[in-house]
Amino acid sequence: MKQIDEYFGCNVFHDTAMRQRLPKDVYRKLKDTIRHSKPLDISIANAVAKAMKEWAVEKGATHYTHWFQPMTGITAEKHESFLSIQEDSHVLMEFSGKELIKGEPDASSFPSGGLRATFEARGYTAWDPTSYAFLKDHTLYIPTAFCSYDGSSLDKKTPLLRSMETLNKEAMRIIRLFPDEGITDVMTTVGPEQEYFLIDRELYRKRPDLVLCGRTLIGAAPAKGQELDDHYFGNMPQKVIDFMKDVDEELWKLGVFAKTEHKEVAPGQFELAPIFTTSNLAADHNQLMMEILRKTAIRHGMECLLHEKPFAGFNGSGKHNNWSMTTNTGINLLDPGQTPYDNARFLLFLTAVIKAVDEYQDLLRVSVATAGNDHRLGADEAPPAVISVFLGEELYAVLEAIEHDRPYDKTFTKSMTIGSDVLPAFPKDTTDRNRTSPFAFTGNKFEFRMLGSSLSISCPNIILNTIVAEELSVFADQLEQAKDFQKELNSIIRTTIQKHKHILFNGNGYSEEWLKEAEKRGLLNIPSTPEAIPHYIAPKNITLFKKHHIYNESELIARDTILYETYYKTVHIEASVLKKMILQDVLPAAFSYEKELLTIASLSSCQTLESEIAGALQTYCRQLYEKTILLEELLSSSHDPNPHTCALQYQTNILPCMKEIRAYADQLEEIIPTKKWPYPSYYQLLYHL
Ligand code: ADP
Ligand code: MG
Repeated sequence: MKQIDEYFGCNVFHDTAMRQRLPKDVYRKLKDTIRHSKPLDISIANAVAKAMKEWAVEKGATHYTHWFQPMTGITAEKHESFLSIQEDSHVLMEFSGKELIKGEPDASSFPSGGLRATFEARGYTAWDPTSYAFLKDHTLYIPTAFCSYDGSSLDKKTPLLRSMETLNKEAMRIIRLFPDEGITDVMTTVGPEQEYFLIDRELYRKRPDLVLCGRTLIGAAPAKGQELDDHYFGNMPQKVIDFMKDVDEELWKLGVFAKTEHKEVAPGQFELAPIFTTSNLAADHNQLMMEILRKTAIRHGMECLLHEKPFAGFNGSGKHNNWSMTTNTGINLLDPGQTPYDNARFLLFLTAVIKAVDEYQDLLRVSVATAGNDHRLGADEAPPAVISVFLGEELYAVLEAIEHDRPYDKTFTKSMTIGSDVLPAFPKDTTDRNRTSPFAFTGNKFEFRMLGSSLSISCPNIILNTIVAEELSVFADQLEQAKDFQKELNSIIRTTIQKHKHILFNGNGYSEEWLKEAEKRGLLNIPSTPEAIPHYIAPKNITLFKKHHIYNESELIARDTILYETYYKTVHIEASVLKKMILQDVLPAAFSYEKELLTIASLSSCQTLESEIAGALQTYCRQLYEKTILLEELLSSSHDPNPHTCALQYQTNILPCMKEIRAYADQLEEIIPTKKWPYPSYYQLLYHL
């Protein structure tokens, strides 16, 4: 068997491959282009394209594709073969610099939120040289940005790259105010932990709700749920071990650092975490990870569910976004460090994050708002929809001491002077204990835990990078002007803590008391997507995005529109599927059982148990039918032309009606014989892997 290091990244045209295959000066120029995010010169592009094609063809590639991330949140690709026919009918494998740099997919069917009318449907894709090309399914994949012809971004990569640049710029302004350590760049880093379910594929295919919506719309609870917590970190069935081995190998070949795997809380639920990397690579890699998980599961006779809430009554799936900032010299800026200077810089970056989260709670909430995630956030499941920051007791005590200018604890007799004294060390594991916080400091990074499992991580990271960049720019404005740097630094840190302390919370984020306390503190509590979306285009947020060149107003409005549309279309599909399931499968099953019971009853002269059960069936069936007809009516009347109103209609009318229908259907499932029920039960889906 091959060692991992022999094949890790073997399908990636990464730095080493480029260095080996490119002429020295081309390689140097390309690196320079990447480092300074400059546009790629055509002469370099030609040389790179040639080397890239040769590398790919040697490995069996016949096609190439610009791989991009439209606003659907998933990836898109259009394959072109390398073939070109010469005048003498000779066939050549060709790939030019022009084709590498720019592609022109017909883009009329991707959501544009009104940014691009159909008559000017062309969009173009442009290579993102900071993300390596890779090989998959005999095709050379070129990670690209996707724009409309006027340059408006139509994707999730462009704004992510913009936000990374902005953060770099503003963080460097701060870095320059501290002693020179040769730092020239600051990158944001992300390690997203991915949760998912695995179920038997044959069973999956028998459930139209899972196939079409990714979640079960009906389903009675099995006799045993997750109350014993016996699945969490339990040992894996062989089938799953084999599956994970394949997933790892596929991902490693693609240079994705898949590392940690374990069972999650719900039966059939698992987690896969990679080692962190820069944000744009992490976003690309997470897309690949979701794709490989799904494809590999199918090969193993299973289906991988990435939906946020596939099964009612069981934990849903999320994605923890571990986030930090790292310098080109390898310093993690959220690591407290060893020296007074390190500490001061750490405290400044830390308070910038705290201030950012507090001032832009709304944006963080919107960044994770989807119809699927609504079943977790603000519903019966954690994390709560209220954003707060967990720091752990030690760090919290340090900030309190700074706030009140008093000693940190008994071992410290005098107040700490930022920039002169060393922070007390706080052990990492004590900072990581609270699992209920939506935004937790975990020793040297923040873990944003509100993301849904199927979400592209781009949007939350665009927001995180931008809001932290904004606070850093405000701090830099003050510090650059300061006559006494030390004094100003102290004052910024102290006043920021005073002003934004109300966002800090170390307790149980799932508790009722916290929701009350949060309300008292004036923190936002936005339970649903249609209520969250309007915050996207609040004037303060438009100003923010414009200031940092992340989105112009029309790009922002486009995204706002797409969020609404995606929301109500999702619920519409779910409601339509539910309606069909009830009318075409559930009711007929109930009628057939009822008929059977009545036949038996008709053979008896006295009142029988059979006729009693038939009576109960009839009552449920009637209620179920009436609700389903009501749902049908609501579906045809919820079409307000205003997307916000329309989304609200779906939220306030359709979803509650679906819930009632589900309750009746689940009652029927409890009394109809398993053999007669038209769909695999929760028991089968969750316990028959
Ligand atoms: P947990 O206790 O949450 O399982 P780990 O320390 O194993 O925590 O890390 C979880 C994730 O955080 C991993 O994907 C890891 O690579 C990532 N991570 C660690 N350090 C950083 C960092 N500096 N920036 C971003 N992500 C990080
Ligand atoms: Mg974690």
